[in-house]
Amino acid sequence: MRLSRYFMPILKENPKEAEIVSHRLMLRAGMIRQQSQGIYSWLPLGKRVLDKVNAIIRDEQNRAGAIELSMPTLQSAELWQESGRYDAYGKEMLRIKDRQDRPMLYGPTNEEMVTDIFRSSVKSYKDLPLNLYHIQLKFRDEIRPRFGTMRSREFMMKDAYSFDLTREAAEHSYNKMFAAYLRTFDRLGLRAIPMRADTGPIGGKLSHEFIILADTGESEVFCHKDFVDFDIPGAHTDFDSVEGLQAIFDKWTSLYAATSEMHDEAAFNAVPEGDRLSARGIEVGHIFYFGTKYSEPMGAKVQGPDGKEHFVHMGSYGIGPTRLVPAIIEASHDDNGIIWPASVAPFDIVVINMKAGDQACDDTFELIYAALSKAGKDVLYDDTDDRAGTKFATADLIGVPVQIIAGPRAVANGEVEVKDRKTGARETMTIEAAINRFVA
Ligand code: ATP
Ligand code: MG
Repeated sequence: MRLSRYFMPILKENPKEAEIVSHRLMLRAGMIRQQSQGIYSWLPLGKRVLDKVNAIIRDEQNRAGAIELSMPTLQSAELWQESGRYDAYGKEMLRIKDRQDRPMLYGPTNEEMVTDIFRSSVKSYKDLPLNLYHIQLKFRDEIRPRFGTMRSREFMMKDAYSFDLTREAAEHSYNKMFAAYLRTFDRLGLRAIPMRADTGPIGGKLSHEFIILADTGESEVFCHKDFVDFDIPGAHTDFDSVEGLQAIFDKWTSLYAATSEMHDEAAFNAVPEGDRLSARGIEVGHIFYFGTKYSEPMGAKVQGPDGKEHFVHMGSYGIGPTRLVPAIIEASHDDNGIIWPASVAPFDIVVINMKAGDQACDDTFELIYAALSKAGKDVLYDDTDDRAGTKFATADLIGVPVQIIAGPRAVANGEVEVKDRKTGARETMTIEAAINRFVA
């Protein structure tokens, strides 16, 4: 991508409305724009990061055996009347009437709809287990939307829903998502700790929130500090192994970890003082097992091996991609801007031509840009006629992991400088060596 032809509206000034660093940096880097309170457009740079986050989430959901579909944002109130949540849900639900005066709503979550899909076609235990997910916009009319996309009214959620014949089978489905979440957050460059959680309006029996420790987090959390160094399940984890996944779950729940709603002071005090971590955190994922809470009122049942009909046991599993992007920034930035983990960076490399319009510089950078692009790298080429200082500041702000920089003097020597955004380390090398480093 040539910066001169891209759309990346950088802000020079610090936006006054932003209270936390991630919100400030997302606005300054031109990643998002607020359209009305708590409702955002994702501008091209932000959209690139969001897509990469979603690709990792999708990859790990698929690995764990979940199947992607797509459900609509607008739902009929009827389904919610069946489950009893239409009245129970309160003011966070945006209620709408269509032209026939039928009550509709903008979905805050999808348990009812997916249960309806399930009951319309699954009739036998032989079709279980089943886990269906989508990555879709949700709307919750939050009383206090704030911190940019961290707590917005319209936001994106990956929500998965599992269906099983028995409680034991449902626990295995729960454990699959538990392990998939550990892997997902790790690949996003985050350390998320599963904490026992309240089941809230989704209702249920077993529930964990995945929390990232951050000073700006809205949750107050308490946990054993060893979680910070626990091993993440590997890429070859066997998601069909009941014992294997139970062992992962048991290990990751063996030490104290709870949010303030579930906090047990006495149990926490039993943790040796030096091992206690009491901190603030950001909830990036939340999983629930809730048994037959929806399948009973909505009549979702299958024939079991005993020939009888059984209400299915369900769970739901949410991750917030539009919250994860700012959460990653909270965890990874410095005074100059964002520092993206390579896995979600909007571009792999930014190449900075310090003197666009200079023939030798232009020729050299065209060559570098073409070679890296051909090798499959996502390259941002700063070919604008901005001052070098402005270019450096922009590159640091948008947080691309690698910068390749040169002006007329370096180009005359056949050299470029390669800068690592995270460490700030710079290395001078030949143009060929720089290309080979990233093409090899
Ligand atoms: P919170 O406690 O932060 O209000 P929640 O418990 O109501 O969230 P869940 O129903 O558990 O949210 O939703 C699953 C995930 O969706 C959350 O873990 C979070 O990552 C994301 N999410 C929920 N609400 C919002 C929001 N208003 N803005 C952005 N992401 C959200
Ligand atoms: Mg939650």
